[in-house]
Amino acid sequence: MTEHTRGDGLPGPEECRPHLGIERAAPRHEQMATNKVECNACPVLCQISEGRAGACDRYANQGGVLVRLDPVVWLRRGQVAGATAETGQSHLPRPDASPQAWTRRPTSQADDPDYFVTGIGASTTYPDYKPAPFIVASKVRGVDMVTVVTEGIFSYCSLKVKIDTDRFLGGEQSAVRYRGEVVGHVTTAEYGSQMLSLGGVHHLTGGSKKEGRMTLEAMQLLGNQQALEVDIDNGAKVVLQAGHAPVVNGVPESRMRVGCGSAAIGIFAQQWLGLCDEVVVVDDHITGVLSEHQAGRCLNIPPTGISIRGRKSTPGRYFQVANPGNGWGGTDISEPLSILEPWDPQVAWPGLRLLMTSTTGEHSAWYVLDEHLRPQASDMPQAVRQVVDRIGENCEPSLVSVLFLAGAGGSLRAGVTDNPIRLTQAIKQALVNVTMGGAPAYVWPGGGITLMSDVTRMPGNSFGTVPTPAIVAPIEFSMKLSDYQALGGHMGFVRGLDDSLSHGAWHNDGAPQKRIWHTPPDAQPWPLHQPPMLG
Ligand code: SF4
Repeated sequence: MTEHTRGDGLPGPEECRPHLGIERAAPRHEQMATNKVECNACPVLCQISEGRAGACDRYANQGGVLVRLDPVVWLRRGQVAGATAETGQSHLPRPDASPQAWTRRPTSQADDPDYFVTGIGASTTYPDYKPAPFIVASKVRGVDMVTVVTEGIFSYCSLKVKIDTDRFLGGEQSAVRYRGEVVGHVTTAEYGSQMLSLGGVHHLTGGSKKEGRMTLEAMQLLGNQQALEVDIDNGAKVVLQAGHAPVVNGVPESRMRVGCGSAAIGIFAQQWLGLCDEVVVVDDHITGVLSEHQAGRCLNIPPTGISIRGRKSTPGRYFQVANPGNGWGGTDISEPLSILEPWDPQVAWPGLRLLMTSTTGEHSAWYVLDEHLRPQASDMPQAVRQVVDRIGENCEPSLVSVLFLAGAGGSLRAGVTDNPIRLTQAIKQALVNVTMGGAPAYVWPGGGITLMSDVTRMPGNSFGTVPTPAIVAPIEFSMKLSDYQALGGHMGFVRGLDDSLSHGAWHNDGAPQKRIWHTPPDAQPWPLHQPPMLG
């Protein structure tokens, strides 16, 4: 890799470092006391007295110098089984340490370093016309690479929450409240899961101050993988925590349904053959009836004269057999026979064996028709019980999943390049790998840079806040050095890993605190190993 100097007239990092005043904007308030520093890392522009922190507790005035209080998080690849965090500088060898101190020396000349600078704690340079705080060179498989690292300040951002449960949490579009304030809504249910959309610009900035604060707090808690209790209007009280089971009205959920009632009939029909005359799988979406279902017909199961309440969709598949609720199969029923009409006496027969089960197998009952064709509860035969148990075995653990969705198509791009549209285009052309705290980010098609990341793949405490209000989240853009140059990158600010390690962000006064986040082997793609960039 070659040394680069700035060609845009701005001083490079070596020139800036001892002369911070060059890059730090003059205070907006000219009357500011001399013992204060103005933080220009977000639009609040706090004037911070010596020894005090700014409104977000992320920056402080230490001896007249603006410092970022949280450590910069570095990823270290494949060292331990399970992600752990270490704080402080002592765990990181200095660049001048013996070569053995590093798995591979983290210099721009060393090939495929095991370290990656994330945007967590990286700081920002607001407004973004200045280069990003870290523009880090490395060599990967013989290719000169660069990673542009910053903390993004996102007003346009939300959390998409997937809750693996059939239980009724609230009607679609119902408001979701945190500490009394509306912070989101129930959105379309997905297969086996209820979905919430939380946060978003309208709750952050479009309502009252309290609504904005509560939205911010809820998003930060969930993003940082902590527990959050929400109330859904005319629905449930739910405790959410990414990677954990949801707790619905005080009851931890354990099973995600095997499929809808129709799918369950399709999966298990053959196993019920000869053991049952009729099976009803109760489901809030589609309740399945074995003898009428195509799966039953294929097995030559004869009609039974059963009659189901609800709206018939196609043979053996019924909608709306009951209301949504926390009973059998996400309905409000606790008595399964309540969804049956009287049996057809021309078809049904005394002694007919009927299994009723939910889509998770948590609820099940066995009946035999008496001489009046009324179902009588009986002991379930062991062979039938085994199939019901198999439904449970096929259920996956119920989890809460949280994806952070944010728009990075604005001024943040100016920290990367002089010509922001080129960054957007390069991302769409798969020349740039975008990560958030090192976690893979899915970039939406269409305009802008709208991206989405699983918060459980990001290091702990990746999210912060500023009182504008907005969420602070890490973002990294990795690409070939030659592509970076082509898209108008800030080449004069490109530094090796060792230099970044020693000095921190280019506009910092001293070596920053660092935190190492170990990523388990193969836990997720290493940010610098994305084939499109290296291919
Ligand atoms: S609130 Fe904004 S201006 Fe104030 S310290 Fe935090 S980042 Fe700086």
